[in-house]
Amino acid sequence: MSSLLDFDRNHLWHPYTSMTEPLPVYEVTAAHGVRLQLADGRELIDGMSSWWAAIHGYNHSALNRAATEQLGRMSHVMFGGLTHEPAVSLARKLVEMSPAGLERVFFCDSGSVSVEVAIKMALQYWQARGKETKNRLLTIRGGYHGDTFGAMAVCDPVGGMHQLFQGVLPRHLFAPLVDCRFSDPWDPHALSEFAQLIRDNHQQLAAVILEPIVQGAGGMRFYHPRFLAGVRRLCDEFHVLLIADEIATGFGRTGKLFACEHAEISPDIMCVGKALTGGYLSLAATLATAHIAETISGGDPGLFMHGPTFMANPLACAIANASLQLLLDSPWQQQIQAIEAIMDEELTPLRKQPGVSDVRVLGGIGVVEMKKEVDVASLQQDFISQGVWIRPFGRLVYIMPPYIINSDDLRHLTRAMVTVLEKNQSQLACNSAHKSP
Ligand SMILES: *Cc1c(COP(=O)(O)O)cnc(C)c1O
Repeated sequence: MSSLLDFDRNHLWHPYTSMTEPLPVYEVTAAHGVRLQLADGRELIDGMSSWWAAIHGYNHSALNRAATEQLGRMSHVMFGGLTHEPAVSLARKLVEMSPAGLERVFFCDSGSVSVEVAIKMALQYWQARGKETKNRLLTIRGGYHGDTFGAMAVCDPVGGMHQLFQGVLPRHLFAPLVDCRFSDPWDPHALSEFAQLIRDNHQQLAAVILEPIVQGAGGMRFYHPRFLAGVRRLCDEFHVLLIADEIATGFGRTGKLFACEHAEISPDIMCVGKALTGGYLSLAATLATAHIAETISGGDPGLFMHGPTFMANPLACAIANASLQLLLDSPWQQQIQAIEAIMDEELTPLRKQPGVSDVRVLGGIGVVEMKKEVDVASLQQDFISQGVWIRPFGRLVYIMPPYIINSDDLRHLTRAMVTVLEKNQSQLACNSAHKSP
């Protein structure tokens, strides 16, 4: 093993891993377009967009230019008492492109922090209105909103970390999984338990928080737009704010610029992150309506109580400006439609595999859900030998490639999924045949 991998193994945490029995990691030396270059010279087609972020692919000349130009001016300056063009342009773009009514922008460092900010805004809003008892949140099971404490408390209680941090996390309310899939005919019963919860608890509820349409890291589920529209209606009826976490879905991934558009609704507060800088730097934002911003500012202490050191980092903002311009100038709708059509065609036949429980595709997201948890290390190795980068988790093997991927590279990705999962199936069948008496 190289000394680099050795040191990594002994000293570096990776996301959700053990420090004593870590899964193998692979050294990347460069990336361009949809390809990652490994230290041993192999090239992999990227199926992950580095967790939803690298929508334009890697090492993009326009984003590189934006970064170097901004570096020549300043990479950072504090946002307390100062402002700059990259932040103002970016806020202008976000306000223009996001669902109607979202007009006040808070920049922060990461998705999780933008969720903390959103929750704080909801709490300060009701405090300012003299309704301190409205301080709990309602969400749906299967959600994921980040790893910080406020965000963790609204992640799925089973899949998330509630057990581990019991007693420390605030207790919020959870509606059941949405029992109506995106492409199914709408079943109004899917909304009834949620409606009951909001009806029974609205006096304690500051906000509903959810991922619109696509639940990401909590299970990669796609639910019906009419559910989201119903949630919006109920929030209005019972005076509860609606926070849409568009951190994974934002900027085109589901086929709409924002997933809320599938239901033609606007939330009161919206979080964006991940693809905001095209995967170059960590940056997120929390958008709110003028009404929320003004109410918070009119209450006690008259300020919104948050202000990260690297707020509105100019380098990140400059790259985000270039990334959003690139997106808006690109034929992203056609790109996503083409990705969706190929994934549908290539992955749907996997439904017939005995080990597969479901295949679902929406926009630029393709998911194969297995019946049993997969062996991540072994699948990852198989994928690498097929020349692709796909990182499964739990029972889910899924891809969300950069929007710029061409059809040959995409078919390479989907066929690698089919090959590896079929091989895996026959091995499992073999093993169980050996084990059976
Ligand atoms: C990734 C993600 C987050 C957390 O973002 P980080 O940048 O990892 O802190 C929150 N919500 C959703 C829906 C996400 O997909």
